[in-house]
Amino acid sequence: MDRVYNFSAGPSMLPIEVLEKAQKEFVCYGNSGMSVMEMSHRSKDFEDIIFGAEKDLRELMDIPENYSVLFLQGGGSTQFAMIPLNLMNKNNKADFVKTGQWSKKAISEAQKYGTVNVVASSEDKTFSYIPKLDSSKFDTEADYFYMTLNNTIYGTHIPDSKIPDTGNVPKVGDMSSNILAERYDISKFGLIFAGAQKNLGPAGVTVVIIKNDLVGNAMDITPTMLRYDTHIKEKSLYNTPPTYSIYFAGLVFKWVKQMGGIDAMEKINKEKAALLYDFIDNSKLFKGTVDIESRSLMNVPFILPNDELNSKFIAEAKSKGFVNLKGHRTVGGMRASIYNAMPVEGIKKLVEFMGKFEIENK
Ligand SMILES: *Cc1c(COP(=O)(O)O)cnc(C)c1O
Repeated sequence: MDRVYNFSAGPSMLPIEVLEKAQKEFVCYGNSGMSVMEMSHRSKDFEDIIFGAEKDLRELMDIPENYSVLFLQGGGSTQFAMIPLNLMNKNNKADFVKTGQWSKKAISEAQKYGTVNVVASSEDKTFSYIPKLDSSKFDTEADYFYMTLNNTIYGTHIPDSKIPDTGNVPKVGDMSSNILAERYDISKFGLIFAGAQKNLGPAGVTVVIIKNDLVGNAMDITPTMLRYDTHIKEKSLYNTPPTYSIYFAGLVFKWVKQMGGIDAMEKINKEKAALLYDFIDNSKLFKGTVDIESRSLMNVPFILPNDELNSKFIAEAKSKGFVNLKGHRTVGGMRASIYNAMPVEGIKKLVEFMGKFEIENK
């Protein structure tokens, strides 16, 4: 069977060049005589893989020297607990922007360890927009200020240009679904994290980028494995890390470098998103669900006039090789996730198909 255009929200499409490179090295990596999965995480070969991956990521994201880069397990969701356990340590409170399911989960986890103050929310309109972030409403005594930078389910994002000023309060960003896809100035943040399975590689590894001066004040109850300092001290090798996922993410970092880095990726991503949004905006049948100003470059939700048409569209698309277009159950309709690995061609063909569908179903 031929490969399809996979619009899954995550795990999602990976670059074909990377899959083929991994395939070549699958049984025998370099001169090691074994696969990466069979290697000791303490071996020289694996050290080269993990430290090489860190170096490439630092270069790609322009991560300052005074930040640590960690490769952890537990997915983005474990960060929802790890962040308050490690950072809610001065005044035991934090400000949150509530923009979807992922920030809701982060909020309810943080509430177990301290006081959560929701400073802005878009829940009133099913998270279809980014609420106004008014600095005068922020708590200057908060231990940190938390944002989901790209809302995978609802298709909104807070781009770098709209990151609010929080004074001395460190900013925390969930970048799970837009890391390496658009440029952020890392020095604005205290902590950034991203589960791998949307833009970085297979599930299993979570990247955490943390400013060193925030480390070392974890609550006493914090399990050893959930302390950032544990992993910083041991360079992500405190225990066995997800070795294959780290190797694979390293290949993706090299691929992004070959593509020209984040700025080049962002340019392509803007082109891709514009193709789809322009079609939807000009369509009499398809409709976007998100406020134009808030639209994500990565996840594009859209709907047809009724559920019957939505189902018909999803089924016909699937038969043409455009898969996983069903929207999240809380939004309905469709969602096209168009991460870094989705080629421009995939969007052009999808738009062409949507055009035909519109004519046939007027
Ligand atoms: C997918 C996702 C998560 C959760 O990631 P897991 O690795 O499944 O725990 C968190 N935040 C955002 C924005 C996501 O898209």
